[in-house]
Amino acid sequence: MTILFPSLSSLPLKKLIQPSKSLSVFIHPISTAHAKLSIGSQIMNPTSSSSSTLTYQVPALDSDQMCRVADQTFDRYSSNTVNRKGKGTAIVWFRNDLRILDNEALFKAWASSETVLPVYCVDPRLFGNTYYFGFPKTGALRAQFIIECLADLKKNLMKRGLNLLIRHGKPEEIIPSLVQAFAAHTVYAQKETCSEEVNVERLVNKALLQVKLAPFPEKSTGQCSTNNPKLQLVWGGTMYHMDDLPFSTNTIPDVYTQFRKSVEAKCTIRCCFKIPTSLAPPPSVEDWGCVPSIDQLGLQSQKVNKGMNFLGGESAALCRVFEYFWKKDLLKIYKETRNGMLGPDYSTKFSPWLASGSLSPRFICEEVIRYEKERQANDSTYWVLFELIWRDYFRFLSTKYGNSIFHLGGPRKVERRWSQDQRLFESWRDGCTGYPLIDANMKELFTTGFMSNRGRQIVCSFLVRDMGIDWRMGAEWFETCLLDYDPCSNYGNWTYGAGIGNDPREDRYFSIPKQAQTYDHEGEYVAYWLPQLQKLQKDKRHFPEKSYIEQIVPLKYGNPKKHQSQERAFATRQTKGFDR
Ligand code: FAD
Repeated sequence: MTILFPSLSSLPLKKLIQPSKSLSVFIHPISTAHAKLSIGSQIMNPTSSSSSTLTYQVPALDSDQMCRVADQTFDRYSSNTVNRKGKGTAIVWFRNDLRILDNEALFKAWASSETVLPVYCVDPRLFGNTYYFGFPKTGALRAQFIIECLADLKKNLMKRGLNLLIRHGKPEEIIPSLVQAFAAHTVYAQKETCSEEVNVERLVNKALLQVKLAPFPEKSTGQCSTNNPKLQLVWGGTMYHMDDLPFSTNTIPDVYTQFRKSVEAKCTIRCCFKIPTSLAPPPSVEDWGCVPSIDQLGLQSQKVNKGMNFLGGESAALCRVFEYFWKKDLLKIYKETRNGMLGPDYSTKFSPWLASGSLSPRFICEEVIRYEKERQANDSTYWVLFELIWRDYFRFLSTKYGNSIFHLGGPRKVERRWSQDQRLFESWRDGCTGYPLIDANMKELFTTGFMSNRGRQIVCSFLVRDMGIDWRMGAEWFETCLLDYDPCSNYGNWTYGAGIGNDPREDRYFSIPKQAQTYDHEGEYVAYWLPQLQKLQKDKRHFPEKSYIEQIVPLKYGNPKKHQSQERAFATRQTKGFDR
């Protein structure tokens, strides 16, 4: 199979100016979702002889199973005893919270009104270019994933008597005009933390101040209320709630372990919000709009013909939790398998749904607790929560460090010389470095929109330490490609990997020979993504010499033995809980 990578040589490297970041999400019609479902039963074992062309659907359930599991989960989280005492119309503006289970904004909009208008704005800014280097801000695979999330959200809202209004344009223009047209008293939305998203919140707020609603008659008194419409932002998306943290924004610990120990000791994780059994009645809307197609977003459809094919949407997310925890019973071995690189089962693969908000981390936590009660509790069951705290940590830190997480010197303003050598960067981006471990990972990223955590750490280290390339080029390429792109986790991890993050103790070099030996001993992973290596003996696959393309740069620590002391130090930290 030939993978065609876009040529970036025509893309100018933008002038290095200070950024403001970073609209995170972005966005095939419902038919795509159904088409994907139909291949669910074709999942094969990656070690079989035809392994190099296998596609794994994630989750690997057929459409009947998917509907059953999603409906059963929604039923467990539904309630018909919640009081609705509100009046008038409230809007729920969906952003990176594309779900109905445990959605505080949706819940509050419903409780405070007689009718809810759910809205999603297809913001053209999400389809522009990345800040410094002008890559596509949202690649076709993530766009497709979000389209599927929207289709599923619309379907789930309709099942409960509502619908999803989809409009193309800027939220600061769309939301106020809807507020005016529907005389909505409040707009509920999930609060974001990075500057591009926060700026949109500010603009919506400002535009709402200009909206003058006709006085609203109070039901009980008959008097008129003159309340202006309000934007009510609610915290969501993390496992721990921002308001429950035992520190203020400025004093959030820079070191992960300190952060984790503190929240574990002093905070409890709130329960999930229930979904009212009925969200009806819907407001009277002439045209609810359609879920956009990939063409309408100005992108070309890209099919996943190898590796993991993720299905977007809350229903698929709930099914992946069911599959990983309950059907395949993999939670109990997560800690031993999580550093794998091949196939869907070495780790949870929850991240794309978490990033789009189609999965709540509190729901995952409640499922872990249920699994621990009904099956078993061990280090692995805890470790999923441990990793979710990493996610929280990066989200909270973005409130402390603001835009500095996007700057070359990072939060600590580290001064270091970086190269922007286009030839080196392109060889990394296109998976043509001559190092199979790097090339396989980069091909997986482009082909599927996903890369393992192990792979991400290795390719990051190679780009910044062996090549000396400006880490932001790598981060922006990840921003384009990743299904799970989230500004806090992406830039948090890149600054960390580049040694300029908030935690000054982390400065890690990943030795390719050592990583290959430990995590892909038989060369199965590299042979899957680079089929030309399959004919080689297993112990030659990582260093195929003349049987593969020439290495573009020598390794900084060519002799892995020289590097052993650093690796040992790293191993010590791992046991102390530093490892990710
Ligand atoms: P699992 O191992 O099953 O972990 C469960 C969950 O814990 C993940 O879904 C994720 O939400 C969270 N998690 C695990 N590790 C981390 C971590 N290091 N940082 C933050 N959260 C973590 N993750 C993103 O969600 N979005 C990104 O844009 C992103 N960019 C990254 C860039 C680099 C350079 C690196 C090294 C890591 C990045 N990660 C990012 C973190 C991590 O690689 C992915 O979250 C993880 O690989 C997703 O796979 P999974 O869901 O199977 O993870």
